[in-house]
Amino acid sequence: MDLQLNDARVLVTAGASGIGLATARAFVREGARVHVCDVDKSALDALATSDATLTRSVCDVADRAAVARLFEEALRTLGGLDVLVNNAGIAGPTARCEEIDPADWARTLDVNITGQFHCAQLAIPHLRRSKNASITNLSSAAGRFGFPLRTPYAASKWAVIGFTKSLSIELGDDGIRVNAICPGSVAGRRIESVFANKAKARGVTPDVIRDEALAKSSLKRLISPDDIANAIVFLASPLGANISGHALPVDADTQALV
Ligand code: NAD
Repeated sequence: MDLQLNDARVLVTAGASGIGLATARAFVREGARVHVCDVDKSALDALATSDATLTRSVCDVADRAAVARLFEEALRTLGGLDVLVNNAGIAGPTARCEEIDPADWARTLDVNITGQFHCAQLAIPHLRRSKNASITNLSSAAGRFGFPLRTPYAASKWAVIGFTKSLSIELGDDGIRVNAICPGSVAGRRIESVFANKAKARGVTPDVIRDEALAKSSLKRLISPDDIANAIVFLASPLGANISGHALPVDADTQALV
């Protein structure tokens, strides 16, 4: 299937590893030109060898001045923007609400939702000039269900869906589509540390948490970063031209979180 993304100009936040890197690579495979940012400079530098076509900026999306520099660099390199993928997001603390350090609460919200606001706000004037403009925001299954011991993360990911649905209405007249993706548990280092942190907080082994988590999905399996990347690329393509304002689960049919 030709996704008609040849020469599309794409910005992916947190693109040095994980879902962001899988997404950047998926766009490159479709012929798009892709700029990535990440807070981890050494992971970005490694892309010069592994993924030389990706252009790169160091940026913490929670830092407005850094995001402004990112957009200067990305726009200079890409010459415009068709697609923003607001992927950056941190797990935040694993603890009961009353034990959470307010600084950890604030940092989780700053990265996971305010970072998306910063990037969307700076992208919109450029997206207005595109013939196939879209924003895809990474939410989570934690943006659809309660997630005990992860209140800052869940609050931030529910916020992403409210932001997405409101922004899609605001930008409809400009022909800019805005959607969210809600991944379930994605195989990789991050989910292993999520399981380990929850196991520690509950005094059980990580295998107990993993088994409980898998039991809550109909398909009973972890998903891959490529599953998320494929959904993002489709939504950004002209084939997704009439899909906006949605929060799409890609989660092996998850029914609840543990
Ligand atoms: P990850 O933890 O593997 O991190 C990916 C990259 O994000 C890293 O290179 C890291 O340096 C970068 N990053 C972290 N903070 C940043 C910041 N402030 N600014 C810029 N870059 C930053 O993440 P992932 O698993 O690839 O998740 C990507 C997105 O998907 C996140 O929004 C996450 O909440 C969401 N998500 C992930 C899962 C999962 O199981 N992995 C499930 C649901 C939702």
